[in-house]
Amino acid sequence: MSDHGFSTRALHSGDTADRSMVTRAKTMPLYETSVFVYDSLEQVDDFLSGNRDNYMYTRLGNPNQRALEQWGASREGGEDALVTASGMAAILAVLASECSAGDRIAAARDIYGGTHSLLAKELARLGIGVDFLSVDDPQGVSRSIAPATKLLLVETCSNPLVRVADIPGLARAAHARGAKLVVDNTFLSPVLFQPLSHGADAVVHSTTKYINGHSDASGGLVVSTGDWISRCRRFTQNSGGHLSPFEAWLTLRGAKTIALRMERHSANAQAIAGWLESRPGVQRVHYPGLPNHPHHDLAARLFPRGSGGMMAFDLAGGLAAADRFMRSLSFIAFAPSLAGVTTTISHPGKTSHRGLSEPELRELGLTQGTIRLSVGLEDVEDIRADLEQALARSAEL
Ligand SMILES: *Cc1c(COP(=O)(O)O)cnc(C)c1O
Repeated sequence: MSDHGFSTRALHSGDTADRSMVTRAKTMPLYETSVFVYDSLEQVDDFLSGNRDNYMYTRLGNPNQRALEQWGASREGGEDALVTASGMAAILAVLASECSAGDRIAAARDIYGGTHSLLAKELARLGIGVDFLSVDDPQGVSRSIAPATKLLLVETCSNPLVRVADIPGLARAAHARGAKLVVDNTFLSPVLFQPLSHGADAVVHSTTKYINGHSDASGGLVVSTGDWISRCRRFTQNSGGHLSPFEAWLTLRGAKTIALRMERHSANAQAIAGWLESRPGVQRVHYPGLPNHPHHDLAARLFPRGSGGMMAFDLAGGLAAADRFMRSLSFIAFAPSLAGVTTTISHPGKTSHRGLSEPELRELGLTQGTIRLSVGLEDVEDIRADLEQALARSAEL
């Protein structure tokens, strides 16, 4: 398979995980079982001494998890992968497998809210020090990484302003200080960017988003070296953050079409972003595919195939305009998640960034008029028309 294209491998990876068994099913069957039967103590020994082709108990491993892990390792270009119950469980596994009390983690200041809480509220309490820093300038990052820092954790693109991290530069900065770089690649997906080939040491995903893509299953993925993944796996086996067989099965089913989906998400988003810039009442559009985005050149270099489907825009009329806009949409739903097949919007000021005051929002570059848009796979003229009529209504204030 290794000489085939991305789309071919996205469709076929994982499906052969079951071919050695009697049924020879065309696609991966669902193993909705919590436990597996053993014929002899010898088989038990074989499993417990690390043979991953056997299964014992679904918290320790299951064929559906394994199929999705093979897909993830192959598509991100890593030696091995681990799937988990959610993106947060994947991030916890990669951090907890590397850091002990007394170590430090450096993370991007504008990192996903759930990750911020995990670091600031849970890991800090367990004795792992946390430093939040601006990751705009890799040289500055290198200077501010403390000696006890084991990991630098960043996102390929930030939420919701889609600021782009210079992953090759940040990898050099982390390595120069003896730290490893972990990249949350959820917003781009492996179709548009593969952090391991740009110097990252581990990649994490919320598969809840683009990898599954259909907004019907939660899950997480870590891809790295065989050694690091075994330590992540041990942590997840011991802490119970494993992915259920059904969620793994659904996610692999969704993942097959990811190459086609990302192409359409990117093309639709590029068209919508350019069009939104010209609309009255829209103050600013944040999309790295637009020439006026502060990281446009970096995006053009790192994401030659497109910048994905996530963007944000600021309504000049602030909170009242945002409220009126959201109520006026017809098929575009207000749903505070992202990266599904249908177009959705969210309001960062009232959801992900709820705890922040107006000046704090402004400091991050957000306003109460900021709308996050996750551009879906609908016909682009229908997305445009729905946004257009809602913009017109929001301007009637
Ligand atoms: C959603 C998300 C997460 C958390 O993933 P869950 O599957 O909700 O646990 C982490 N990082 C990013 C960038 C996300 O968008």
